[in-house]
Amino acid sequence: MIPPCVFCRIAQRQIPAEIVAEDPEVLAFKDLNPQAPTHLLIIPKAHIATVADLTDATAPLLARATLMANRLAAQSGIAEGGYRLVINHGPQAGQSVGHIHLHLLGGRPMRWPPG
Ligand code: 5GP
Ligand code: ZN
Repeated sequence: MIPPCVFCRIAQRQIPAEIVAEDPEVLAFKDLNPQAPTHLLIIPKAHIATVADLTDATAPLLARATLMANRLAAQSGIAEGGYRLVINHGPQAGQSVGHIHLHLLGGRPMRWPPG
């Protein structure tokens, strides 16, 4: 069966993505519409809709995704200059895909607060 969630489909290799790292539980791939020179998405392979749906059982997946993001930042050469990890939750924050994902952004100066 083809899952309806686009990131589940990427995780199951049913649609293509530029995958840059993987472990048994977490996958990282390039964002289709990059907002910075480095813009990767790191997801748990299991379907979790948003950060608000994490439980005691699934929260470690987010820690694992963060550790993968840190490794990828170092490999991409953006660790020293600085990088941003973002999770959008819900419409006002701009969440557009209903499968939890960590954005890794870097390679350019960034302003705060975000828009
Ligand atoms: P959100 O707005 O939910 O925080 O972020 C969703 C991100 O997923 C966006 O930055 C968007 O460019 C990216 N995205 C949406 N669909 C696809 C896709 O099919 N492939 C890839 N690689 N990225 C996608
Ligand atoms: Zn999903």
